[in-house]
Amino acid sequence: MTTLDVKADFPILEPDAERRRIIYLDSAASSQKPRQVLDAVRRFYEVSNSNVHRGAYDLAVRATKLYEEARCKVTEFVGGYDSRGVIFTRGTTEAINLVANSWGRDNVRAGDTVVITALDHHSNIVPWQMLAKQQGAAVRMVEVTEDGRLDLEDLRAALKLRPKIVALNYVSNALGTINPLPEIIPLIHEAGAVVLVDGAQSAPHIATSVSDLDIDFYAFSGHKMLGPMGIGALVARPELLDEMNPYQGGGEMIQEVGDEQSTYADIPAKFEAGTPNVAGAVGLGAAIDYLNDIGMDAIHEHETGILHLALERLSDIPGLKVFGPDEERAGVLSFALDDIHPHDLATVLDQEGVAIRAGHHCTQPLMRRLGVQSTARASFYVYNDESDVEVLACGLEKAKEIFSYAA
Ligand code: PLP
Repeated sequence: MTTLDVKADFPILEPDAERRRIIYLDSAASSQKPRQVLDAVRRFYEVSNSNVHRGAYDLAVRATKLYEEARCKVTEFVGGYDSRGVIFTRGTTEAINLVANSWGRDNVRAGDTVVITALDHHSNIVPWQMLAKQQGAAVRMVEVTEDGRLDLEDLRAALKLRPKIVALNYVSNALGTINPLPEIIPLIHEAGAVVLVDGAQSAPHIATSVSDLDIDFYAFSGHKMLGPMGIGALVARPELLDEMNPYQGGGEMIQEVGDEQSTYADIPAKFEAGTPNVAGAVGLGAAIDYLNDIGMDAIHEHETGILHLALERLSDIPGLKVFGPDEERAGVLSFALDDIHPHDLATVLDQEGVAIRAGHHCTQPLMRRLGVQSTARASFYVYNDESDVEVLACGLEKAKEIFSYAA
């Protein structure tokens, strides 16, 4: 049973003269935006637009206040240590690259090990591979079980290498697997490593407290949690950020600029060189307000309801194979149908007005382990309901029929 009824808040889900009705099942890639977020961004540009931190006039004061209020909302929403430990970035990818390039270059040396996992998105793989190559360090990838969970025995084996950092996601974008962070993080810290959690798929869906979980670095993207594109954050222990060197140089991040050398501002400014995405931060703040109004527990319950409904309905379709674990799974459903190529499935579904994702989901190491090139993926969020699942299932039945004629 699904419990939320918020579709009407999302203008893009209503058909209009230019576009037919859409059943949007690709929220793991990017979510749609409620009117409340669109209005907040528009209002910012209409009444408060200005650069931040550098003007004495009223508009600059208003913009700065809104920007810093958004930082406080993020801190509270993810249970950060304090708002000095929230750095606005373009999103998850930039936040992870910030850590790899700043913390990584100072702390990972030749002969060291960096641990990543086969469940991760390329954004949490490639920056670590690049760092390891630069520094002469080794990358150790933790394996997954056949049903798509992190292999905890293999993680324990990797921790025996005494890695400098372990980078892993909370929720897998390809399978929906929820990693048991309360069990894993103490093991990582006992091994003497720092932990970076990619929260791109957890921040939108699971109530999280970075400080309760004892996470050192947490990265997420606003656009996956009803916020605008081009805004996200790195949430970190302030004492780690204090010790780190800036990732980019420019305006705003300095204390004093000499002819040959400069000194840097305190955090968070030290890591926010240049003009930030103020309207994006304001929109992200509005998205957080919206999510809080619904309640993260209610969101999780709603998505779990839809996922189970979908698993049950799709199990009626002969030849449909679902990837990923039965339990501890967020609202992501990766599947294959007979030997129909996932791109063909996506094309047939598109003709029915259903948007799903087909491909490797930026998880090629995981796809290799699953023995496939790609999967079809439906991912659910607050605005999906039972009728969306039924349209998806009917579309898949149609695809099966079309391709059985073709065979
Ligand atoms: N990590 C995970 C688990 C993701 O799902 C994604 C996007 O799909 C990313 C990282 C990258 O996010 P962004 O492109 O917003 O930086």
